[in-house]
Amino acid sequence: GERQRAGGRGADGEGERQRAGGRGGRLDPFTLVDDEVAALLAGEPAYRVRQVRGWLARGVADPAVMTDLPKALRERLREVLPTPPTTLRHVTADGGLTHKVLLALADGEAIESVLLCYPRDGAPLSNSEAGGRRKSRGRATVCISTQAGCAMGCPFCATGQAGLRRQLRVHEVIAQIAVVADLLRDEALRPDGVPDHVTNVVFMGMGEPLANPDATFATLRWLTGADQFNLSARNVTVSTIGLVPAIRRLMRLELPITLAVSLHAPTDQLRDQLVPINRTHPLAELLAVCDEYVATTRRRITFEYVMIDGVNTAVHHARQLGDLLGPRRAHVNLIPMNPTPGIAWVAPPVGAQRRFAQILEAAGLTATIRHNRGTDIDAACGQLDANYQMAS
Ligand code: SAH
Ligand code: SF4
Repeated sequence: GERQRAGGRGADGEGERQRAGGRGGRLDPFTLVDDEVAALLAGEPAYRVRQVRGWLARGVADPAVMTDLPKALRERLREVLPTPPTTLRHVTADGGLTHKVLLALADGEAIESVLLCYPRDGAPLSNSEAGGRRKSRGRATVCISTQAGCAMGCPFCATGQAGLRRQLRVHEVIAQIAVVADLLRDEALRPDGVPDHVTNVVFMGMGEPLANPDATFATLRWLTGADQFNLSARNVTVSTIGLVPAIRRLMRLELPITLAVSLHAPTDQLRDQLVPINRTHPLAELLAVCDEYVATTRRRITFEYVMIDGVNTAVHHARQLGDLLGPRRAHVNLIPMNPTPGIAWVAPPVGAQRRFAQILEAAGLTATIRHNRGTDIDAACGQLDANYQMAS
């Protein structure tokens, strides 16, 4: 425990603390270890420390909300903690089943998180993520961002177009979950049959989670920590474009989360075009680390495949993909290309999408077609583009 409180040079919190967005140099409350929370509250009775830890476990780092603390203490905390994000806008779609929240960060940057509700029985919208395994309990899934923008430059992706603006800090990632958890507690907003708490978290918003590994890993620890948010790791999905060294680091965390790998093409020739990072980490290298991941964690990997008409959805692409993944008995999540301003690509007709899925299944894979939600409010996962600077 040689982690230092300011600008610490400890394990994974390290880079995160130094790249402070917004108020530079302030502590990120979610990377503090227990002793550090206590030190922050030096001179306060032990139950105050417990109270603050309780708030942090719920994802609340805004002293103004910690109403069980005396005013003077809240003020003291406000001076050392980073300025919390504030909600700029909240819109809904799909008859109240999809919510998008726009958050303003301290430096004027804006980010979004999305709540996808899947009611207990007879969901009005079929959703493939759940496949045939849908339990009757209902789910409330939060889709979160880890970066403002993204440096990976995938030509079909709205986020990728503008490049990376900055990394998000841990407290900014966690705030996205906390704000949605708040929405779910509100009976007036919560659709029938939907849980009153967050049941699933997917890292499929803006940015490449494994290009901000410190914040992603710290968020995973907080999400799954028994005395933290305490969500089952099985209900957490991290989606990556395929940053091989960081997948290996993720593997070493030994958390039974679901890894989703954005494949999008069955050959290097095509993937080089759709996923520029493939030129650095080509398919053979990526699939080798995926195999290692499966062997080590005993968790299946989901492969994501955005279906772009005339680009990667011909019959021969399906056969090549089947050859590549069939022996791995993998699951493929087919995502119809979401129309994006400035990008001419569209999804193939539904019949062609189904035929593509059938060829994969014939090769021994399970394939599902994702029903895009919230497209009318630009809230589909992987569709968050932050030209919301103007909104702020
Ligand atoms: N950077 C990570 C996670 C965010 S994107 C990744 O790429 O995996 C989440 C998913 O949405 C990815 O599979 C991504 O390929 C997909 N996506 C991005 N743009 C899309 C679009 N226009 N239509 C459909 N899916 C898209
Ligand atoms: Fe970044 Fe993922 Fe979009 Fe590629 S698909 S640009 S990795 S957010």
